Amino acid sequence: MATLKLDIVTAERLIFSDDVNMVVAPGVEGQLGILPHHAPLMTMLQPGELLIRKDKEEIYLAVSGGFLEVRPDKVTILADACEHAEDIDATRAEIAKRRAEELLKTRGPDVDVAQTEATLRRALMRLKVAQRKRKPKISA
Ligand code: ATP
Repeated sequence: MATLKLDIVTAERLIFSDDVNMVVAPGVEGQLGILPHHAPLMTMLQPGELLIRKDKEEIYLAVSGGFLEVRPDKVTILADACEHAEDIDATRAEIAKRRAEELLKTRGPDVDVAQTEATLRRALMRLKVAQRKRKPKISA
């Protein structure tokens, strides 16, 4: 099966680096499916789920936003923050969600609404991705 090289990095560390068969990323203009031999591309990412297919595996990660670049058979994701589904602390995300919801409800003078809404989106997205488990694909 054809592969492309995928690197996912944040300012702090290398999150993922491997040859994979497909990447589905949350582009700002919608889901972006990237297969080997994809045309060169550069786009921003929105908070969402990142799916990687490698052989018979599906790997899920939460990405908070960032940039994605496609070069010939190489995809680089520069993520604001990125966690493997199994590394997400769901309790932390639940606390962040409740706190953001509470702040948006009270809307005190110090509340940055846009920032709090972004925090809420990240928390909801992490809770969703946390439910994913690394699993073998059912069919090819
Ligand atoms: P919180 O409000 O819970 O601190 P946040 O959205 O403000 O979350 P970020 O600024 O996006 O957090 O990320 C800061 C660091 O913490 C990053 O390294 C990110 O991967 C990690 N992180 C954030 N939330 C979680 C979580 N629920 N589980 C695991 N790692 C997390």
